[in-house]
Amino acid sequence: MNFEAINAVKQLLSEPQKIVIVPHKNPDGDAIGSTLALWHYLKNQGQDATIVAPNDYPKFLKWMPGNEHILNFERENSQSKSKIEAATLIFTLDFNHLGRVGQMEKHLQEATVPFIMIDHHQAPSDYAEIMYSDVSMSSTCEMVYNFIAYLGDSDTVTNEMADCLYTGIMTDTGSFKFAATTAKTHLVAAELIDRGAKTTEIHHRVFDTNTPGRLQLLGCALKNMVILDQYRTAYITLSQEELDAHEFEKGDTEGFVNYGLTLEGIIFAIIFIENREEGIIKISFRSIGDFSVNEFARAHFEGGGHNNAAGGKSESSLKDTTDRFEALLKNYEDRLQPTIEQ
Ligand code: 5GP
Ligand code: MN
Repeated sequence: MNFEAINAVKQLLSEPQKIVIVPHKNPDGDAIGSTLALWHYLKNQGQDATIVAPNDYPKFLKWMPGNEHILNFERENSQSKSKIEAATLIFTLDFNHLGRVGQMEKHLQEATVPFIMIDHHQAPSDYAEIMYSDVSMSSTCEMVYNFIAYLGDSDTVTNEMADCLYTGIMTDTGSFKFAATTAKTHLVAAELIDRGAKTTEIHHRVFDTNTPGRLQLLGCALKNMVILDQYRTAYITLSQEELDAHEFEKGDTEGFVNYGLTLEGIIFAIIFIENREEGIIKISFRSIGDFSVNEFARAHFEGGGHNNAAGGKSESSLKDTTDRFEALLKNYEDRLQPTIEQ
């Protein structure tokens, strides 16, 4: 974050503001962890702050301190709208274009107050007056820690904030193993542990939450896996019927896509999940090495994200979507070669 931006933030926060903090739709650990940590920070500084999430999120994220104060735009619609209308300052965290907030987009577009973006995805749009955008960062949680430090307030990080920030760093780095995990990421994590982050408990609360239904759904997903050795690709499909048959709940498919990458030689893994209510196939893309799933998702599936983890969607049927996907792979054969020792 540059000097000018830091000063502009200090200036804004030197006055009492009515602040709304927004994570992306279908918020993940990084989105909820970063918004909650920032919320604690701002409240502790005497600011009036509210988190408005575009929609619901998985149970395994609902234990974080402050969670009960998050408004769900779909469920607490009029309260959420009033907060946005009354806001004098809006933070958007863990996304960088307003299309990522679903139904809330229109309300944010109408707001004429300053926006502050804190985000680590590629190709930010320019809706925010103040942008702290850095694609080299492991997570928005690492950035929120830096943001607080830039403001000279790292001493104010409480154990609640440390728990939230550690959660987002842990989930976005795949427990400190993805390529974007740097020495600085570990230093921030160390600082958070010093400030009271309960690491063992956090791991347990996030990862040890299986139900029999979820394990059986994983079995179903793995059985459905299609391996295309020629393209070093493995994809999984889950139809709405299959989800229904396993009492699917939000968050149950978290992490399934990564199984493809555990196969020797596979560098591109995908999961296609039917969502009949929204009339779409939600897609997650993952890769190992130089193959940019961000570019792939952007070019073909109305999505984006990072080089090695991205998402997108399709409005065709599950079968038509995977047919189109398989046909597309022919154009990428050269690029789907191993780029790291395997
Ligand atoms: P996931 O596959 O876990 O939902 O998302 C992987 C990454 O891609 C995350 O950083 C997420 O924010 C981003 N992402 C997921 N879906 C979309 C999408 O539809 N559009 C864009 N631009 N990014 C997405
Ligand atoms: Mn993130």
